[in-house]
Amino acid sequence: MAQSDVDVVVVGAGFAGMYLLHELRKTGFSYRVLEAGDDVGGTWYWNRYPGARCDVSTTDYQYTWDPELHEQWQWSEKHAAQPEILRYAQFVAKKHDLYSDIEFKVRVNGAQWNEKTKRWSIHTSTGEKISCQHYVMATGCLSVPKEPDIAGTEKFTGNVYVTGRWPHEGVDFTGKRVAVIGTGSSGIQSIPHIADQAKELVVFQRTPNFSMPAFNGPAPQYRVERLKADRATYEREARYSGTGVPMEDSTVSALSVTQEEAFAMLEAAWQKGELLSLGNTFMDSAINRKANDVVAEFMRMKVRSVVKDPEVAELLSPYKHGYGTKRPCMDTGYFETFNKPHVRLVDLNAQPIRSITETGIDFGNESKDFDAIVYATGFDAMTGAIVNVDIAGKDGVTLKDKWENGPLTYLGLTSVGFPNLYMITGPGSPSVLSNMMVSIEQHVDWIRDTLVHMRDNGFETIEPTPLAEEGWRVHCTDCADITIFQEANSWYMGANVPGKPRVMFPYIGGVGRYRMACEEVVAKGYLGFELASGAKKQCNDGLVREVQPDVDMVLDFISTLNLPAMETMSPAEARAFSEASSAMRPSGPEVGEITDGVLQGADGNLEYRLYRPATPGPHPIAVYFHGGGWVFGSHTSDDPLCRDLCAQSNTLIVSVNYRHAPEAPFPAAAEDGFAALKWVHKNAAALGGIPEKIAVAGWSAGGNVAAVTAQMARDKGGPQLSGQLLLCPVTDGSQQHASHRENGERFILTKSLMEWFWDHYATPEQRKNPQASPLLAASLAELPPTMLVTCQFDPLRDEGNAYARALMQAGVEVEHVEARGHIHTSITMVDMLPSGAPHRREMAQALKGFFN
Ligand code: NAP
Repeated sequence: MAQSDVDVVVVGAGFAGMYLLHELRKTGFSYRVLEAGDDVGGTWYWNRYPGARCDVSTTDYQYTWDPELHEQWQWSEKHAAQPEILRYAQFVAKKHDLYSDIEFKVRVNGAQWNEKTKRWSIHTSTGEKISCQHYVMATGCLSVPKEPDIAGTEKFTGNVYVTGRWPHEGVDFTGKRVAVIGTGSSGIQSIPHIADQAKELVVFQRTPNFSMPAFNGPAPQYRVERLKADRATYEREARYSGTGVPMEDSTVSALSVTQEEAFAMLEAAWQKGELLSLGNTFMDSAINRKANDVVAEFMRMKVRSVVKDPEVAELLSPYKHGYGTKRPCMDTGYFETFNKPHVRLVDLNAQPIRSITETGIDFGNESKDFDAIVYATGFDAMTGAIVNVDIAGKDGVTLKDKWENGPLTYLGLTSVGFPNLYMITGPGSPSVLSNMMVSIEQHVDWIRDTLVHMRDNGFETIEPTPLAEEGWRVHCTDCADITIFQEANSWYMGANVPGKPRVMFPYIGGVGRYRMACEEVVAKGYLGFELASGAKKQCNDGLVREVQPDVDMVLDFISTLNLPAMETMSPAEARAFSEASSAMRPSGPEVGEITDGVLQGADGNLEYRLYRPATPGPHPIAVYFHGGGWVFGSHTSDDPLCRDLCAQSNTLIVSVNYRHAPEAPFPAAAEDGFAALKWVHKNAAALGGIPEKIAVAGWSAGGNVAAVTAQMARDKGGPQLSGQLLLCPVTDGSQQHASHRENGERFILTKSLMEWFWDHYATPEQRKNPQASPLLAASLAELPPTMLVTCQFDPLRDEGNAYARALMQAGVEVEHVEARGHIHTSITMVDMLPSGAPHRREMAQALKGFFN
């Protein structure tokens, strides 16, 4: 007789439930494992349609927790077919005697949290109520087939099949007239097999999909060899990789090579026959539409090379979504199938289905009879299996209600209001964007370790805090926002199920980065969780990820380079270092014209670079001052940012090479700033600018020069400025603001580097002068309209914020943007850090606004 009161209830006996059962047994918990099917295998139990295969190589799509399996189980192919994967699951279940502890053909109908007893009550389809402390949903992400939202489905009297619920005995289509609706992975894999048997096959396609041949055969030799040589390292690489399969991250932009070179690189990845390799050919195909177009065009070229009828080839070629933004497919002979005379493709955009009828399908102005209809129409992905169970947490609130506008989880594992509830590969974790085996094992390990930790430390409950959950939602959104995934109507976005909220369901920040976040949470005493038992509570509340994801990646990359701190260099070395770094960045957008010249500074000539918009002039002018701590940088050193500002704001930018410390210390930069403004104003018409429409702009120390120049223009009788644009400006060298300490170490501009800059530029006494510290000016009244951008993780944040506040108090019109998750340098990194793009747009808008 099974216990009705256990430590843990696990729902699902796919690869997740099986491994969790093993671990719960090992760690001595009592449990019940419930499975709706009558065997193990989960997705590989249900999806038995012909041609079903895994798109991840067998070298990677297998358990790692039992090393003996690598000797005891031999895969026959690179991409194992469903029957073999199911046999593997059965083999593991037998080997570890898992069958004896799994209850098959049992569904969970409901689950309620009891706040008094601190336990879940699980109601099963057999009428049982099971009480448990922990409730784990190991129900899979693609386990609930979507209802076919097509009129008349109930009328058809022929045979109906759904790929995700395929009959166990198989289906013989010989001599039959068959319709397949849907061309996602399931359709693309099954269509060639159905075509082999059917007398006539009509494929109803709403959206063509990207697919590459599986080139099935033996497992990739180079992976086999690496595994043989050092399995532990290989597995570790997989766990910290982007997708859960070891792979070198590309450092090549698809836009930095010719189309011929790009296609050659893609061809090499194609020939490897690895889906993830193809998507990984370029560093920017997921974040830049133009880069993605290069891959998409390569894929369309491949379709054209196979499909003989050019019209059919065109219909099979995706144009509306980027490569990878809907799950790309792997096939065996899919496109070739459309060369067969008995196979027809119907484009539902031109000929929509009017209704399924008793005998077939009415579409466009045709009616066609079929013996069988196959629905390959997909799943209510990621949340379907979770919200279809009536799960009521604290105060009776159901997960379905809580997630009405999109799933809210902490780490994709847990959710506020649902203590001791865990989801394996849930929304907000890498899940379906990863090699599921790696993600499943990670979640099972995390849950096991958490349960053990709670038991060892006498905690009854664990629940994320609202702050942590909201922070994770924001982080997940930040990750998605820098990609082009949200443009596509994919099931990743919930777009395939009518009424489902449109959000990015999986976490797109990468498997390794996700794992590090989970590890950090634990290392920081379960950061963002409250653990409790009666009056005993432990809560280290906070956010595990706050820095913008692309900025974080750059910081991590830089930390691997072990670069010397600039403040340990001489100014000459620092200048050379800065120039060498600048040479490696993307150039920024095209502008109408770039010319270099010389202008009159306070003490001799200064170089300048002029960026002219492509539109007819004359244009408003921004006199721009570069960053570099008054010590390094030049009129060309902020080139990408100047181009971006010029192109986006239609403003002529004159970037000035003011004199640098220590050779020319305070007040040289400030005096040059003012002199340059006067010169540009005087020569505005000759430069192609409008003298009455002139602003100053600058970043960092250049922001300081711009702010001081604006004050000098006010105090010295002009020129009259239309505005000042200050990005992360230095405004106060007279004191340490809190952000100097808070953000002083990890974020490129460090506290000690800032001190080094000041030491070269101005003495402690000089720093009290408003021409060094514009915040200290006696009055800020009558300064021009201001756009001031400060960054959350910039040591200069607080002095920038203080300047914005002081300007407002003095009656100046101020637009103050506090860039969340950004660092001192990130907004200037044009074409490198997409998260900075919205702020650059805001700055350009502000510049335009100054002149209107
Ligand atoms: P899917 O990718 O969601 O594809 C469903 C197809 O049905 C799409 O072409 C969709 O068109 C179409 N469709 C849906 N509703 C329709 C309607 N009312 N009328 C006409 N067409 C309709 O589903 P799937 O192929 O089952 O694959 C789901 C996921 O399972 C895959 O993306 C993959 O992650 C996983 N999977 C993996 C493998 C593998 O590893 N080899 C195999 C199978 C599945 P739209 O695109 O216009 O919505």
